[in-house]
Amino acid sequence: MERGENSDYNEFRKKRVKIFKRLIVSAMVFFIALPNVICLVLLGLVYKTNVNLNNISNELNFLKTTRVEKVESTETMSTPVSVENVDTDFVFRVLSDAEEYEGYKRIYLTFDDGPSRYTNELLDLLNEYNAKATFFVLAQDGYDDEYKRIVNEGHTLGIHSYKHVYSEVYSDLNGFENDVNSIYDYVSNITGVNPSFYRFPGGSSNTIYKGDKDELLDFLSEKDLVYYDWNVTSNDATSGGLSKSQIANNILRGLEGKDDCVVLMHDANDKHSTIEALEIVFQSLQNGEEKVIFLPITENSEVIQHIKRSE
Ligand SMILES: [Zn+2]
Repeated sequence: MERGENSDYNEFRKKRVKIFKRLIVSAMVFFIALPNVICLVLLGLVYKTNVNLNNISNELNFLKTTRVEKVESTETMSTPVSVENVDTDFVFRVLSDAEEYEGYKRIYLTFDDGPSRYTNELLDLLNEYNAKATFFVLAQDGYDDEYKRIVNEGHTLGIHSYKHVYSEVYSDLNGFENDVNSIYDYVSNITGVNPSFYRFPGGSSNTIYKGDKDELLDFLSEKDLVYYDWNVTSNDATSGGLSKSQIANNILRGLEGKDDCVVLMHDANDKHSTIEALEIVFQSLQNGEEKVIFLPITENSEVIQHIKRSE
């Protein structure tokens, strides 16, 4: 009996020691892990704050530059401004006669890579400001209404690429012709309108195509397609993405000192910031003193091309 009681007691002691050991080990693990977890949480918070700070400083930079522009423009106000100029400082309408555009800064907004899930919102915004634009589109199934809306609302529907895969578009002359023909047919089948304007993927001066570029240009002119590059870039396709104020600022700076401005932008599923930036641009120009008009590209527009056919 006594032996039995002793061994029971020993068992009981062993169990208690085991439990204590486990408790100590758990406590050690807990106290070692705790600071690490706290560090990770703090790191996350620091990162988030950094991102917020960056955004705030971008907004601030933008506000600063627009304020500077305002100060400059009040300085130029000292020269007498005619009443007519003050009244029509910002005109959002398409004038019927090309000659009426004289005296205005003519802005051709161009949107590549659409349609996208944001095309309707973009078209609504353009409507709101009575601005016309040009869309250089891809073949995107399920967007028939958007292609038609672009045409019906008086914008120019240009073509960009069927699939936008450089290795296929620029594989050789044949690959290029196939791509252009495919997007041309795709767009005219949906809208009933034959496109007149084309934008090269990567622009006409891209270095991806290794063949003779004159052959590409000849093919386009045989198809009665005029290719358009740009002289103002929003940089909205920069990897990592710019904030709406950075994009707006790029556009506003690019517009300075030019009478005819072809602005490169994108209508894509990951670029809502472009639409937000455009609204800033509209508002900023609306409050400016310059006479501005937003036009679709037509055969009367100034042709902006980065390369020309070599003679
Ligand atoms: Zn593109």
